[in-house]
Amino acid sequence: MPNHNELTQVYLDANATTPVLPQAADAALSAMQTLFGNPSSSHITGLQAKHLMEQTRARAKTLLGTGEGKLIFTSGATEGIQTSILSALIAAKELIHQGKTYSVLYGSTEHKAVPESLKHWLKVLNIPAQVLAIPVNEFGILDDEFIRQHVPDALMICTMAVNNETGVYQNLNHLEKTIRDANPHIFWMVDCVQALGKTSLDLQHTSIDYAPFSGHKLYAPKGIGFVYIRDNAPFTPFIAGGGQEAGLRSGTENLPGMAALNVIFEMLLRTEDSAFSDTQTLHSFRQQIADTLTDCFPRIIFNNSFEHSVPTTINFAVPSFSSKEIMDLFDAANIRVSSGSACSSKVTGSFVLDAMGLPTWQSESAIRMSFGPAMTQADVDTACARIKTASLALTHSCMVLENSKIGADINDKAQLEGLLQLRSGASCTWVYADTSTKQALIIDPLPELQHRLDTLLQCQQLTPIAIIDTHGHADHVSGREVLANRYLADQDSDMLGWPYNSKTVSYAGTKCEAINVGDLQLLKVPTPGHTSDSISLVLCSAQQAKYAFCGDTILMGSLGRTNFESSSSAALLSSLKLLNNTLAEDTLICASHDYNNEFTTTLSAESKRNSLLNSALLDLISEADFIKRKAELDSHLNDQVGSEIMCGAYVGSCNKSAIREYDASSLADAIASNTGVKVIDIREPHEYALTHSQDSSQNVPLTRLVQFIQEHQHQKDQPWVLVCRSGSRSMVAAQAMHRLGFAKISHLKGGYALSY
Ligand code: PLP
Repeated sequence: MPNHNELTQVYLDANATTPVLPQAADAALSAMQTLFGNPSSSHITGLQAKHLMEQTRARAKTLLGTGEGKLIFTSGATEGIQTSILSALIAAKELIHQGKTYSVLYGSTEHKAVPESLKHWLKVLNIPAQVLAIPVNEFGILDDEFIRQHVPDALMICTMAVNNETGVYQNLNHLEKTIRDANPHIFWMVDCVQALGKTSLDLQHTSIDYAPFSGHKLYAPKGIGFVYIRDNAPFTPFIAGGGQEAGLRSGTENLPGMAALNVIFEMLLRTEDSAFSDTQTLHSFRQQIADTLTDCFPRIIFNNSFEHSVPTTINFAVPSFSSKEIMDLFDAANIRVSSGSACSSKVTGSFVLDAMGLPTWQSESAIRMSFGPAMTQADVDTACARIKTASLALTHSCMVLENSKIGADINDKAQLEGLLQLRSGASCTWVYADTSTKQALIIDPLPELQHRLDTLLQCQQLTPIAIIDTHGHADHVSGREVLANRYLADQDSDMLGWPYNSKTVSYAGTKCEAINVGDLQLLKVPTPGHTSDSISLVLCSAQQAKYAFCGDTILMGSLGRTNFESSSSAALLSSLKLLNNTLAEDTLICASHDYNNEFTTTLSAESKRNSLLNSALLDLISEADFIKRKAELDSHLNDQVGSEIMCGAYVGSCNKSAIREYDASSLADAIASNTGVKVIDIREPHEYALTHSQDSSQNVPLTRLVQFIQEHQHQKDQPWVLVCRSGSRSMVAAQAMHRLGFAKISHLKGGYALSY
């Protein structure tokens, strides 16, 4: 196994949660072992516990300037949010006039806990109010005009002091004036979770009614939080019971959590010798990290304006890098950051950045780095050095070229030979490199991947000999023309990029056009159906069709849709039959979309789960019936998935095979007992290079999995164990291989993350 402990962790995800500071952990431990009393007990141990609790409350009140307001301990901010919303809505319900329409307002960049709780309590309390999101501008600042317009008829308004994804802060004085000028009595909750310790608050001098906080965002343990309630603001206990917290929140108090908070409050109140850096220092830390990121990724775009955000958050995107790629890279370098989007092939953006109107790619590629006020100069220096190490590793994968600022050198690269599958979302671009001639083929180039392709070609010193689309894509603009103008300006080709100087050859009894790529031939097989111009490109040696780039003719689990203007199901049927004559059973079909993370397929594997395809290939269906069934299938098309249009209705079974799973110890046992088990690390070469030590694993990155499958078609009984960072890539790859007949494929559950 790679030794992941070589590098200590650089933790830059403080907005998600923070470690407990040692002083706070000591206090919590003492509250568990020594000061463990129940504050409700009247004996000395209980009185001591009560004293600790009240001291913590007093410090919190001083720190937040709560004046006569209440401060109640909770389990965290989500509970504080419920308490606030429930209290406000119960009171607001009393004020409702029949026949009038009401709303509740919340900032569109608010944490999900807020709108979800609003909807929940409106439903439970049976209050007929609209839930309206207040728009924000490009900096994430709430729209005054919208508030002015809607606040008069609103029952409640929820805003946040500091945003968790961007660190953007609202000017609470300005906001207060906007709200109160339009509605002096509306109930106002401000989520202050990310503001604690980062901005000063003086709640008694505001008309904020409710302000929830959370301990684990500022070095206290999870499970402790508190909520401020303005004096005279309506209040309904969210939890009833033994009458703790003066009957406002029942349940035996979380003394260890309070003891930890007590220490944190004491540190925040201290003016000298504080463990926390001042704002100016935090600004300089952020700038240093931002400068390092800019050196490492010269095309970086910062998603948050530093002027409008607290100094502990950086949100950025790097053109042509998905957030998942950056996350994987940083995780391999033991740097913990967070992504704004879900890590799946179905890319989703960050709703916060979407609300700010940022371009989709920025939202989908967003990375958040955040730190807390306990950050030190030494921590920042280590983080910057590690970011450089991580980005240097990218030269290894030819994902960046030389970068003299950080000493990156392209000679330190993994040689590309054979097939590479690149993706943007669920769409695929295929690159085939022939090392002996340094020639490259590019099929279905996506515009989003242009920079990646340019870098790859230069880094690998490859010359494209053809850049071809399998059809005129309806769902996206092709990147072909731009690339062809750059690399093949002198080549005469048809609309799809097929070169006119090809030769005619005979293959599998049919005549077709062909070009040479090293020792292989690329055949053009017209396969109309999905569109009238659809072609399939078959890469073959004299004996064998290795890969078939079928565009949207055959997709994994589906057939290309035939409900476009230039589609024809009858033509598709003929095309499928033609492919059946041209391809071998195990020719790998490389489609232009991979909606379900299946990488590749074969005619035989598809026929097993796609009865329509099976009937077509075996000549078991009339043309009329095929057209009818195809139309029926297309009528179930889920047109849009995220920002992508589906190019085929899924007909195959979604049941994933049960894959054998190892954990770290059973895998070590299997390796030791000489069962022939071979470990394949399927992370990208830069991740592998960052963590690989002396173990015997082989690196087959997911981008090269299809080539690996092709080369090992005759070793389907080999017991390979796939491993990756978290066990998620290894799982999908194992399932894909299992479906293609690799019977003994298995994976490491939980990945390297659980093998530390
Ligand atoms: N509000 C904001 C702005 C947050 O960042 C979070 C945590 O991510 C919450 C609310 C929920 O806090 P808790 O985890 O304490 O329930």
